[in-house]
Amino acid sequence: MTKFLGPLDIAVVGCGVAGQAAATLLSERGHRVTVYERFTEPQPIGAGLLLQPTGLAVLRELGLADQAIARGARVVGLEARTHRGRPILDLHYAHLHPQAHGVGIHRATLFELLHERLKKSPAKLVTGAEIVDVDQTHLVEANGTRHGPFDLIVAADGAHSALRTRLMPHARAPIYPWGCMWTTVPDPSGIGAAGLLRQRVRGTKLMMGLLPVGRNEVTIYWSLPIRALGRSKTIDLLAWREAARALWPEAAPIIDHAAAAGDFARATYRHVALSHWNAGPVLFIGDAAHGTSPQLGQGANLGLMDAWALANTLDDAPELLSAFLRFERRRNPAVRYYRRASHLLTPFFQSRLAPLGWLRDAFMGPAHHVPGLRTMMGSTLAGTRRGWLSSVSLDGDGCFPLDA
Ligand SMILES: Cc1cc2nc3c(=O)[nH]c(=O)nc-3n(C[C@H](O)[C@H](O)[C@H](O)COP(=O)(O)OP(=O)(O)OC[C@H]3O[C@@H](n4cnc5c(N)ncnc54)[C@H](O)[C@@H]3O)c2cc1C
Repeated sequence: MTKFLGPLDIAVVGCGVAGQAAATLLSERGHRVTVYERFTEPQPIGAGLLLQPTGLAVLRELGLADQAIARGARVVGLEARTHRGRPILDLHYAHLHPQAHGVGIHRATLFELLHERLKKSPAKLVTGAEIVDVDQTHLVEANGTRHGPFDLIVAADGAHSALRTRLMPHARAPIYPWGCMWTTVPDPSGIGAAGLLRQRVRGTKLMMGLLPVGRNEVTIYWSLPIRALGRSKTIDLLAWREAARALWPEAAPIIDHAAAAGDFARATYRHVALSHWNAGPVLFIGDAAHGTSPQLGQGANLGLMDAWALANTLDDAPELLSAFLRFERRRNPAVRYYRRASHLLTPFFQSRLAPLGWLRDAFMGPAHHVPGLRTMMGSTLAGTRRGWLSSVSLDGDGCFPLDA
């Protein structure tokens, strides 16, 4: 008879999307879980994000999907156009299933839902603990304090993971040359009411996105090269207002609001590609394992799926090493696809390579009329792909089947 892993002592480093979901699910399966977070008050950074059917399925398991849908904005598709109005992307979840949809949600709302859920679980939370190293089975804080021993350490400390740098010094995790600034503002013009994530582009250097994230609220994204995003750089909001209005005149009321409020967050992203998910007993999940540019809107969804897969894999594995192998087998197809697809697509939207913009404008619109390609693009948006040739079908209710 196979003996399964008993309750484990587990440390989760990072109280973000992936860390909180993993800690809740693992502790409720009987493991003794402690979360370590560097901030004294765990907090979300930045503005809104798009939950896909994949991420929503994990939130449903956590009992949070209805609240996320009620407090966010139902998103029915993605539409991208050039500054001249030429369509580049026109994708609707309904192409996959009539009831399928995404949810635009403020980061603070998603964080609050996950955090309240974590507090109701048996997991413990230690804040103000900046974890910089692992010594065999112990965590080591920046001030030298040690915690442990642990059977399993889950590193969910984000794209700029200190543990990855320390334990996998040769892992590839370059910063993209472009990032963005973003904020959430009221939507007096009702541009978000159609439930579309909208983008406007001009060449590869100008890109603006509008994501509905709640009742009459939208998040604005504005692409910038990273040299303009340093903390010491001030953002010239008057110049931005002029450039944004010229790119997208219909969005002028939203742009004016954002320029007046001026509280933009800045984001840089990494392309993280690990050859293995673990280093000894330390398993990397979320952006720490597979950070990408947000071009395909999948990062948080992939992190939620990692959390779900980890909790399930530990349930029926005889020992930790085989649990890690099963976890890798389960997560590699989707993660590899989205990492590569994001990496391939990003320079078409954010780079100095003007010819890529010409190619994008010439071919992406017509590609929607090629039946196989349209389905592939739609399932890529919905997060259901498992590779270039395969994807998971949504169930009868238009939801993502987690056990597929
Ligand atoms: C502009 C932008 C737009 C995006 N849009 C989308 C979208 O539409 N859809 C989507 O799915 N994803 C989107 N993403 C990606 C998404 O934000 C990330 O994939 C997701 O937040 C990753 O979650 P995580 O839990 O892995 O890491 P994080 O959310 O970054 O959490 C990491 C946590 O670890 C803590 N931490 C870090 N270092 C330490 C340490 N040394 N010790 C202790 N704690 C530590 C941090 O304080 C933080 O709480 C976007 C990202 C950006 C930048």
